[in-house]
Amino acid sequence: MRDYVKLTERDNVAVVTHDVKKGVEIMPGLVLLDDIPQAHKFALVDIPKDGEIIRYGVVLGYALDPIKRGAWINEHMLRLPVSPSVDNMPWGTNIVKDLPEAPRKTFMGYRSADGFYAGTRNILGIQTTVQCVQGVLDVAVEKIRREILPKYPNVDDVVAINHAYGCGVAINAPNAKFPIRALQNIAKHPNFGGQLMVVSLGCEKLTVDRLVGEENNTPDNVVVLQECRGFNAMMDAITGLAEKKLAILDKRRREELPLSELLVGMQCGGSDAFSGVSANPSAGYAADMLVQAGATVMFSEVTEVRDGVNFIAERCVSAEVRDKLADEMRWYDAYLDAGEVDRSANPTPGNKKGGLSNIVEKAMGSIAKSGTSPIVEVLSPAERPTKHGMIYAATPASDIVCGPCQLASGIGLQVFMTGRGTPYGLAAAPVIKVCSRNEMKEQWPDVIDISAGAVVTGEKTIQEVGTELFNFIIDVASGTKKPYTEQYGLHNFLCIFNPAPIT
Ligand code: CA
Repeated sequence: MRDYVKLTERDNVAVVTHDVKKGVEIMPGLVLLDDIPQAHKFALVDIPKDGEIIRYGVVLGYALDPIKRGAWINEHMLRLPVSPSVDNMPWGTNIVKDLPEAPRKTFMGYRSADGFYAGTRNILGIQTTVQCVQGVLDVAVEKIRREILPKYPNVDDVVAINHAYGCGVAINAPNAKFPIRALQNIAKHPNFGGQLMVVSLGCEKLTVDRLVGEENNTPDNVVVLQECRGFNAMMDAITGLAEKKLAILDKRRREELPLSELLVGMQCGGSDAFSGVSANPSAGYAADMLVQAGATVMFSEVTEVRDGVNFIAERCVSAEVRDKLADEMRWYDAYLDAGEVDRSANPTPGNKKGGLSNIVEKAMGSIAKSGTSPIVEVLSPAERPTKHGMIYAATPASDIVCGPCQLASGIGLQVFMTGRGTPYGLAAAPVIKVCSRNEMKEQWPDVIDISAGAVVTGEKTIQEVGTELFNFIIDVASGTKKPYTEQYGLHNFLCIFNPAPIT
């Protein structure tokens, strides 16, 4: 087992793979000057004041004071570099064609009638126009699950799309397009099999017409609570309509489909300094295999790629894709400015405890989950993709906001990398958990699906863990395996991204 990881020749720091005491000779002639916690950095050379601190071959920051060879480098010891400009970024200068051969080319999915990517689950999704209906709908869903769903064994679940949007909001504000688009596109999610069902209150700002289109606003699809005569009538209307939809969904069957019909989302959260060494590069390898086989993979999280945006631009296949990337970064820079914060607001206390000094270091690890393949499209938050291959969707990095954005984009499942651990999950699509270090898997053996920890210790390669993850993705997409979050029903509230005013 190795004691430290140095990522590129240019790096002047390395990361320890376990807690190491002061005075240990970690490599010939290099004695540690401090206790170094697991995943934290130590200096490989003397670094002068204002000297570059380099990891991933990239400048993470500049030393605030001189740092001695063998000393611990923590988040208090470096100054952030200037964020890279998004003007005139070179594009197409790093187009990788020789991707690893995928061992499987098909999966068992639910074909979408509208030609969009396939579904991975068969779910009755009940859309809502406004938060006011949640209490009633939750009681109805409980009843449907208990009394009606067992009659339709081919349907996996009934899910209420509850959210905090819909009324008391500036519905015509320019930025209202974000939450509205998200809810419109979630209603079209392939796991819902094209069966539309909406519960509305009757006086909200987000009307049924606006949510699902006037042509779909019929008694065959919609229950309006204010039109029901009392609570029992509300229950009867919701359960009655649900039963009609369940009978249709019950006829859906999986069929063997090419991987070009699969859309996979990638996210990370609770990252540590190993995320960029083990879990994210393994996910990147699986992503390369998926793209090689014709699948579409989406990665996101603007504040976590902003400091490495030039590495994304160089993989863009056209000036148009590069320009959309730049526009999305500018929008987010302005959004953060308006809130009087900057990107230094990103790393969390847990990230820092996990050895991530700043957002540059976090970004380099985050981007690793996108692998190496060309970037064919850039999306605004919650937009639906139109291309096949690697896609960048410019969502917030917050786990519980990125998740619903990717769901709106139509992901069949999400792969979630973590260093510190989170039980996060989505009700409408499976979430696979991949951890960066063995200790995390030992702590949560029955929450984490796949550990990339053996990459840290040198016992497995990125290719081995990446291939294992690829196969698990195909099995979960095909319904033959369920990740732990799905087995337990661990589902987070749908936190819809709303940068527009609340009234
Ligand atoms: Ca995240």
